[in-house]
Amino acid sequence: MHDAPQISPEHKHVDRETVAQLPKALLHDHLDVSGAVTAADVTAAAARAAGELAADNVVYAELRVRPVAGEMGAAEVLDAVAAGFDEQIVVDARIIVTAHRDADPVAQWAQVCVDKLGGRVVGFDLAGPEEESLAPHAEALRLLRENYVPVTVHAGATEGMDRIKEAVDHGAVRLGHGARIFDDFEVSLEGIGTGAVSTWVRDRGLVLELCPTQEVRAGVVDDLADHPLTLLQQMGFTCTVNVGERSVTSLTDELMRLVETFDYGFDELFDVTVKAVNGAFCGKERREEILATRILPAYEELAGDFNEDVEFGL
Ligand SMILES: [Zn+2]
Repeated sequence: MHDAPQISPEHKHVDRETVAQLPKALLHDHLDVSGAVTAADVTAAAARAAGELAADNVVYAELRVRPVAGEMGAAEVLDAVAAGFDEQIVVDARIIVTAHRDADPVAQWAQVCVDKLGGRVVGFDLAGPEEESLAPHAEALRLLRENYVPVTVHAGATEGMDRIKEAVDHGAVRLGHGARIFDDFEVSLEGIGTGAVSTWVRDRGLVLELCPTQEVRAGVVDDLADHPLTLLQQMGFTCTVNVGERSVTSLTDELMRLVETFDYGFDELFDVTVKAVNGAFCGKERREEILATRILPAYEELAGDFNEDVEFGL
């Protein structure tokens, strides 16, 4: 557990400049390498993306990489991406191998992911049109499970519970978006109840990779003010906040929208940041290191000497 540092009174107001400077963590972003032809192109694109994240003070990021570029094989593309990420020291950028469920050699890339797991490659994702079932990829998903590769699946942005259930049934430990989990809620006089799948997602701590701006664009809700983020948090779901794609928004901008729309304070920003680090696919030791050396010191600085005896459980 990480208790939020008690923020000193002069820092109760959340301004953009401070949020921009705070260390942040990001679990859902995509690195587009489709225009790259050579390994050098891929490395340059990866370094550029990592540089953009570093400029936004993102200290840990997982980028989905669809390993297609020029005539290169998937493993070669991943090596070239890793080389680009290695050039950037501010952000610890990792790779989630992503395959479009309707178009890509999912089984083949799952095997490449198994072979490459460790170092920069930390997990696997299925993207592509949500209306397509995961059923044709059951074997690939089984291979990933058998090799202890953490899996996340794009589900719950354009389609509802059928796809979320399918992702959970196939062993996903995170949901890319997952916002439509509320389709599994039932409202009664006693309040809001969770169905079997949403209960599982909440109680087992599966991570929702929410991307509020993208989800508004996808039509989950009409307006950011109606986004289920705060409801899901109150109900005990493990919520993280992400950009979805850097071309849509920066993480600072996304967090500032939450400040403006939901009156988020530093406590709430701390909460989503810690949950993102804890939900990361890198090893637990590294996650603890990021929290101890990057995240906590910055928030402690905001706390200043307001409450020196605050203790942070690590
Ligand atoms: Zn995505």
